[in-house]
Amino acid sequence: MLPPNNTLESVPYIGPKIAQKLANMGITSVSDLAYYLPRAWEDLSQITPISALEPADERATIRASLATVSTFRSPVKRMYLTQGKADDGSGKLPLIWFNQPYLKTSLKAGKEYFFTGKVDRNRGMLQMVNPSFEAVSDTPLHSGRIVPVYPEHRDLTPKIFRRIIKGILPHLRNQEETLPASLVAKYQLAPLNQALVEIHFPSSLEALQTAKDRLSFDELLTTQLTIQRIRNYLGKQAARPIPTDNQLIKSILAHIPFSLTDSQNLVLQEILQDLSQDSPANRLLEGDVGSGKTIVVAIAAIATAKAGFESAIMVPTEVLARQHFDKLSPLFKATGVSLALRTNAFNEGPQNANVTIGTHALIYNRVCFTNLNLVVIDEQHRFGVKQREALKNKGYTPHFISLTATPIPRSLALSIFGDLDISIISERPGHRPKIITQVLSENKRRIAYDKIRTEVASGHQAFIVVPLVEDSKTITAKSAESEFAYIKKEFPDLRIGLMHGRIDAIAKQTLMQDFMHGKVDVLVSTTVIEVGIDVPNATVMLIESAERFGLAQLHQLRGRVGRSELQSYCFVIPSLDEAGIVDRLEEFSKLTDGFKLAELDLKMRGPGTLFGALQAGFIKYKLADWTDANAIKRARDAAKEILANDPELTNSPELAKRINIEDVVLHRE
Ligand code: ADP
Ligand code: MG
Repeated sequence: MLPPNNTLESVPYIGPKIAQKLANMGITSVSDLAYYLPRAWEDLSQITPISALEPADERATIRASLATVSTFRSPVKRMYLTQGKADDGSGKLPLIWFNQPYLKTSLKAGKEYFFTGKVDRNRGMLQMVNPSFEAVSDTPLHSGRIVPVYPEHRDLTPKIFRRIIKGILPHLRNQEETLPASLVAKYQLAPLNQALVEIHFPSSLEALQTAKDRLSFDELLTTQLTIQRIRNYLGKQAARPIPTDNQLIKSILAHIPFSLTDSQNLVLQEILQDLSQDSPANRLLEGDVGSGKTIVVAIAAIATAKAGFESAIMVPTEVLARQHFDKLSPLFKATGVSLALRTNAFNEGPQNANVTIGTHALIYNRVCFTNLNLVVIDEQHRFGVKQREALKNKGYTPHFISLTATPIPRSLALSIFGDLDISIISERPGHRPKIITQVLSENKRRIAYDKIRTEVASGHQAFIVVPLVEDSKTITAKSAESEFAYIKKEFPDLRIGLMHGRIDAIAKQTLMQDFMHGKVDVLVSTTVIEVGIDVPNATVMLIESAERFGLAQLHQLRGRVGRSELQSYCFVIPSLDEAGIVDRLEEFSKLTDGFKLAELDLKMRGPGTLFGALQAGFIKYKLADWTDANAIKRARDAAKEILANDPELTNSPELAKRINIEDVVLHRE
């Protein structure tokens, strides 16, 4: 059993000081500790006899008594030296520690210890340098076993963590099972208590693996239960069908100055089909940057208006809301559909417009819809049941479509989301030349500047993106403010703009407007321009301190250019000239397809970084591998089984607690 109310008070070794430090890390309960998992495990279970030691790069562990020990100040190098001699009966080994004067009191001659360290040769003699040590006892913590390595933390070393976690082992051993017994048996899972104990202090590598399997199953199961519950929730909601006919769609298309790609047409059909149903649509529309998602949902919104319903298009930033509003206005005017813009800073168009574009604030603020039936969520990270409930109208749930440029490969999306409705725009419109991407080292930045100069001279525009708003003492990377000053000097004759998140909305808007109308030549910006900005006349993108961005994000940024028939260029300049970094950027420069880049990121850096944002939110796995389709399928089957027998999870309160469907999201970036 967990201690009463799960607090840390009764846990040995945790006094007020450590409790405070833990609290700073967000750890306030025994369960928090239980799930504070090691980042690695070190197998120190093999004890080597001294006679068998050899110099090696790996650390070795010996179990020996400390025959002699002395600490003194070395006259030569002005440092403390501690010398000892270990003896395990098979042989003797000199031990040496540098600059750890406190060892004088902690090491006792005559006592038996585990010593773990690298063995090297000094003047022909083997020795162990700076070994870590632990007195031999029945329950060794740091040696003589598979040792957990906790994430490095400023105040709490991995060693301290080991002690803290050891203190909760009795609780873990008594941890109650959270899954139905039948399921544990069917999927051959380790019991939860065993898994929690073994994940921290494995008795063997096999036991560690079994523990990992069980806990990653739990992680995947949580996601799958969440998804299933939202599905069940939506399945029970009624929606009003939005009828459309070909004639209507044709008449809308007639007002658009280009023709839709096949891919856009297909996706539009899928969406219209969804909208004609009497249960709420819940579709994820995926398409690479610049693939033309906006126009597709705009058509759906116009069709919705023609059927007599309202639509809301929600975007993450004011700039983007403004842009959508300005770009779509002519089409809406031509089709006789009223359009409004609602953000904290802007309020344009009629009350009760057919279609309202706005930021998230739109949902909760004044906008009152009388007949809302379509909600489009563009590039938005969070959208849960709570928000859906808030937008219900006369008991009806509106249809939902979310747009994302995050290139989740279809197979992966399917394995995570199951039979969720996904539409993918797979081609880019128009005959657009490929963006030429080049990685430049610091001494070649001239090349980028020259290109900016010639492109601006022929009437085009450029972006310069940096990671930080202002200079930082701790992070070596360029900031918008100092870059802006620098670029103004570099290009005294050009019109330079500065854009970042701390500039107020109106000023930001004016600047964006100026940029769109060609009144600014070069826009120095942080990633606030990342999402959705569409300025077809911009042909150069220079990304500074490029190592600070993941491939997917670099791809998003690059997608701000190459939006017309003009040849566009993307330059990336890393602040650090390390081999691994340059290689990664070189790969980026070769690939133009977001999906391929996503797969590459997956291979090179693992799933965590690929879907950084997704990972940061809803799907956050410590152990599970979410590219493991089999494991995901098992979890999905299990989730269905659990909910079939117990739809509200009344019999599994612990499980229910993990799934806060109020706040869950179906689609996330
Ligand atoms: P994203 O999918 O990244 O949101 P947008 O919807 O902003 O892309 O579209 C990018 C640009 O491509 C816009 O300027 C849009 O008007 C244009 N566009 C969309 N579809 C087509 C098409 N079929 N032919 C030509 N241009 C198109
Ligand atoms: Mg977009």
